[in-house]
Amino acid sequence: MSLGTVIVGGGLAAVRTAEQLRRNGFTDPITIVGAEAHPPYDRPPLSKQLLRGEVDSVALKPASFYADNQIALRLGSPVLGVDVSGHTVTLADGDVLGYDQLVIATGLVPRRLPALGDLDGVCVLRSLDDCVALRDRAAGARRAVVIGAGFIGCEVAASLRGLGVQVALVEPQPAPLASVLGEQAGALIARLHRDEGVDVRSGVTVDSVAGVSRVESVTLSDGSVIEADLVVVGIGSRPACDWLAGSDIEVADGVVCDAAERTSAPDVWALGDVACWDGDRVEHWSNVADQARTLVAAMLGAAAPTPGVPYFWSDQYDVKIQC
Ligand code: FAD
Repeated sequence: MSLGTVIVGGGLAAVRTAEQLRRNGFTDPITIVGAEAHPPYDRPPLSKQLLRGEVDSVALKPASFYADNQIALRLGSPVLGVDVSGHTVTLADGDVLGYDQLVIATGLVPRRLPALGDLDGVCVLRSLDDCVALRDRAAGARRAVVIGAGFIGCEVAASLRGLGVQVALVEPQPAPLASVLGEQAGALIARLHRDEGVDVRSGVTVDSVAGVSRVESVTLSDGSVIEADLVVVGIGSRPACDWLAGSDIEVADGVVCDAAERTSAPDVWALGDVACWDGDRVEHWSNVADQARTLVAAMLGAAAPTPGVPYFWSDQYDVKIQC
């Protein structure tokens, strides 16, 4: 009996892979194992429309999609380990699933600042639960400090302004997004945020956060103190591959893959934000569909598809940035 394909990670990459397998005539079982209790959802609205309360659903697919395509969802229990020679994965609830092919699609884990401790009012944003918690906080907040002016930090700053919260945006680089777009474009982004009333502080880091039980202020490396009842840490993420420790799957800055998304272990593939190819990872939405087409073609022994041109976008206020 075929054990089919097990996809670990219940996000965009998992859904795109399952969808491509069915589209290409794969009839064996497909199981998506997701750590979160939610059915697969889309992340870009978490820093935009969902945070601002403009939409209430971010589901990637209706429930009928999984039933119609015979894709089993195992939600709410992360995979804790993989035995590549035995072709099994072990879930936190104790279940062991066998696989013919394993796809790793576990995405990223947000970085935190240990120096900030666990004061109430300090948030990160990666998951749907993070977004709901941040939105609830923002509803009662007067003044927020967003630490890190990358894409997510800038989008959160814009959304919080839209919700009427005063915002300070703190970035160690000379300008927001300077490391991705360069300093000149970063200066334009800084102006965009200042025009919307954001207090942009570039070239400084956060030294400490103070408060009794909940956050009250943030002290920067230049000695300035900003009052805050909400702090959002947006300093990037790391690949979610702790669960692969001790397996024979090579991990560097992500799961190491070849150009066809094959890992170092037989019958194990990886894609999406967690996958690393030629020393590089791409953390963008559009890239995932391309990777899923490539992976499925290789898994089914078909010709490699022509890759699309990768791009990303970011929405801040009424400005759409696309590169
Ligand atoms: P994810 O979407 O992170 O999915 C991985 C899933 O795996 C998660 O649900 C996680 O819980 C689960 N998982 C982790 N470990 C385990 C385990 N051990 N067992 C089982 N499941 C596990 N890109 C753009 O191009 N434009 C944008 O505007 C944009 N906005 C974004 C806004 C936010 C707030 C975020 C967080 C991302 C944004 N992105 C954007 C990036 C885009 O959403 C990602 O590139 C995309 O989600 C990657 O999909 P993925 O499936 O690889 O990872």
